[in-house]
Parts: sequence; C-alpha cells; structure tokens
Amino acid sequence: MKILFFGPNGSGKGTQGSIIKDKYGIPHIETGVIFRENITGGTDLGKKAKGYIDRGELVPDNITIPMILARLQEDDCKGGWILDGFPRNLTQAQELDKALKDLDITLDIVIEMILDRQIAKDRIMGRRLCVNDNNHPNNIFIDAIKPNGDKCQVCGGDLKTRSDDQDEDAIDQRHNIYYDTETGTMAGVNYFKDLSSKNDGIPRIVDLNGQQDLKKVTAELINKLG
Ligand code: AMP
Repeated sequence: MKILFFGPNGSGKGTQGSIIKDKYGIPHIETGVIFRENITGGTDLGKKAKGYIDRGELVPDNITIPMILARLQEDDCKGGWILDGFPRNLTQAQELDKALKDLDITLDIVIEMILDRQIAKDRIMGRRLCVNDNNHPNNIFIDAIKPNGDKCQVCGGDLKTRSDDQDEDAIDQRHNIYYDTETGTMAGVNYFKDLSSKNDGIPRIVDLNGQQDLKKVTAELINKLG
C-alpha cells in the first residue's frame, strides 16, 4: 500500500500516520523527522537544513526531492510506505508523480486531513515531543493526549518542545506554505486530486475531518481505508 498523507502542521497526521503504519506494517516516512534526526546527528544534511527549518521555510527542493526519492527505493519500502510531509509544494508533487511513473509504482491512496488554520496553530503550540519516541502523542491542549505533568503520557519519558513550534512567525510561515493553492502544499493536493479524477479514481482520495477528537479521527480513518 502506497499512501500520501497531507494535512496542515498541527493536524495530528503524525499520530494518525503511525496508526496506519501499524495497520499495514509499512514504514512511516516523515520528512520533518528525517531532517530533525540529521540536525541532532550533526550531519551535513542537518547543517544545511537547520536554518530553513528554524524559519519555517521549506528546505530547498534540490536537497529534499533526491533525499525522499532515494528513501522510497530502500528495501523496507518494497511492500509500501506512508509518506508524511512530502510533497510540500507543487514541484515536489510533480517530481514525485514522475518518479513513481518511471519506477512503475502505483500510488494507492491520498489522504487529506482537513483542519481550520487557527485550530492547527493552537495545536502546534501545545505539542510536546517525547525524547524516547517522537510518535508518542503529547499535547497540553488536547485532553486525550495530555502529558502526565511534564512527562510523556505513553511512557513517562521526558518531554521537549520543537523550537519551530514555539515561534509564531515560523508557524505562520509553515501554514502560508500549506494553504497556498498556487504553488504550495494545497497545490500538490489538488494535483493528485486532478490525477485521480482523470484516472478512474486512482489514487483513491480520502478526506478526513481533523477537527474531531483524536480517537474519532482514527476511527474515521480506519473506516475509510477499509
Ligand atoms: P514537519 O515536521 O513536517 O513540520 O517539518 C518541519 C520542517 O522540515 C518544515 O517546516 C520544513 O522546514 C522542513 N520540511 C519538512 N518536509 C519538507 C519538504 N517536503 N520540503 C521541504 N522542507 C520540508
């Protein structure tokens, strides 16, 4: 199963993505996580990406696109993948589509998580990251995943914040890119919707109401994936 997962920053798609990963037993590839791991590891890629990430700008396509296309060709991706955080603009969408066609890979599903911009912003500011596992959901503004005091509600690990999550300018910048229907992420979403409508519904487009509480979003997702 090859899945693209779209949704504004703060929509909770990382959390839902890890649920799909378990359901299908496929890797959950998150561009932002790959960049952050490289920053923590002090790699060249991390050094190149850091400034862009701190400002909420996109890391340039000539770095991001080859990185993801190479990742999709690794062994663990043979049975499928869920791609989260890529594509993030129209060029990335077009390049991904072209690369998949060249590799004879069919994209099965495109999920679009729909969420009001202000709610997404509030959720970002409440988000906390577990030092033991980035996929442990913690948010001080969401009851279902509220930390235990200052510890992870899943494993009791220490929590930290992402610097780009506490900077309102950086959040606004990320959302400007996401909601941009000309060349931004929404242009990428619309690119795959067009493709689907011209190709007998392949990839299948799945809309998700991200405004509901977390468990309801998961239930809707599982139901719609079938
Ligand atoms: P995220 O964890 O998805 O919020 O991503 C954090 C940051 O990583 C973004 O604000 C960008 O700076 C960078 N990033 C993530 N995905 C991409 C992408 N597809 N293209 C360019 N930059 C990206």
